Amino acid sequence: MTRPAFISSLLLLILGFQSPAFAESARRYVVVGPDINRMEARAMRHRGKLQHRMNFYRGLVAELNQKDAENLRQELGREYLVEEDAEVKTLGRLHSLALRSYAQPAQSIPWGITAIRAKDAWSYNRGLGVKVCVVDTGVQKDHPDLATNIAGGKNFVVKNGRLDPTAFSDDNGHGTHVAGTIAALDNGIGVVGVAPSAKIYAAKVLDRSGSGYMSAVADGIRACVAAGAKVINMSLGSSSDSTLVRDAVKYAASNGVLLFAAAGNESGPVSYPAKYPEVNAISAIDSQLKFASFSNFGTEVDYAAPGVGVNSTTIGSTYAVYSGTSMASPHAAGVAALKISSGASAIAADNIGLAVEKQGYGLVNALRTVTP
Ligand code: CA
Repeated sequence: MTRPAFISSLLLLILGFQSPAFAESARRYVVVGPDINRMEARAMRHRGKLQHRMNFYRGLVAELNQKDAENLRQELGREYLVEEDAEVKTLGRLHSLALRSYAQPAQSIPWGITAIRAKDAWSYNRGLGVKVCVVDTGVQKDHPDLATNIAGGKNFVVKNGRLDPTAFSDDNGHGTHVAGTIAALDNGIGVVGVAPSAKIYAAKVLDRSGSGYMSAVADGIRACVAAGAKVINMSLGSSSDSTLVRDAVKYAASNGVLLFAAAGNESGPVSYPAKYPEVNAISAIDSQLKFASFSNFGTEVDYAAPGVGVNSTTIGSTYAVYSGTSMASPHAAGVAALKISSGASAIAADNIGLAVEKQGYGLVNALRTVTP
């Protein structure tokens, strides 16, 4: 139940208006199909509360009671999709924030960058000419360890009742952390990313608390492709399948884009969108190359990557240590940028002795990826 719906049903309860129609809670739905005006008119007739129109799909997001949504689905027919808009969340947690200081710390190489042999790969390739899309909480575009690598972005999160497409700045910290693992600058301060010459495009689909909706993820993926990204990183997950996100990942893959997503942090089955065959699902290991206790696993896992105690950039022009499969996915996405930039045919990986459900092809290896 969304908060406004909860509050209004609570108010109705207190005030004693117990109409059976409103006793049921409204949920968020996506409605997509050939005729936007017809969809809006019918959704309104079913007492839908319109949120906004989608960006890359002929569709809208609306709050509807479950019964009304079912009636709308029947009425619109097979050409239309009426589906609950599932919630999706970041898959990384903050451990420690570096002490806030106006001075930038001297550059050090995070352990994960060394473990995947990225530092050794830089004499061959640094990801020049490749745009990587970070579908996340946004990115701090003027962070001193990222700024010259930020190629723009687009926002899909409604804030204060308004959807401002230009507002892709990060109000959480997670997206900026992910971006730093991919492409923090080799500039003498802070950290260095896997592909320090790659560009970052930010699709902001998650809010300040790190949550959002699958409809925004689908729009975000389409925005990445439209912006010319060749790699998409999704450090987010949901237990719910989404017709639109499935469509968007197929579209991106058919355009030659390489997709990566966090496997999830429940020590259970792989989350969506990592679960889709077009998406590389990334599990997490620690600095001893042991499987992270929280990491999800399953036959869908494609690669393992560093995801415990990862230092990277965060908002406020600072640095922080996070853990999660959210941190593993951008290590693999960074290697994908090196692969594309170097013209390599495949991502190399090393068997680190884990079960195939836990490591997939193994730990990504940047050096072997870029060298023949
Ligand atoms: Ca740096």
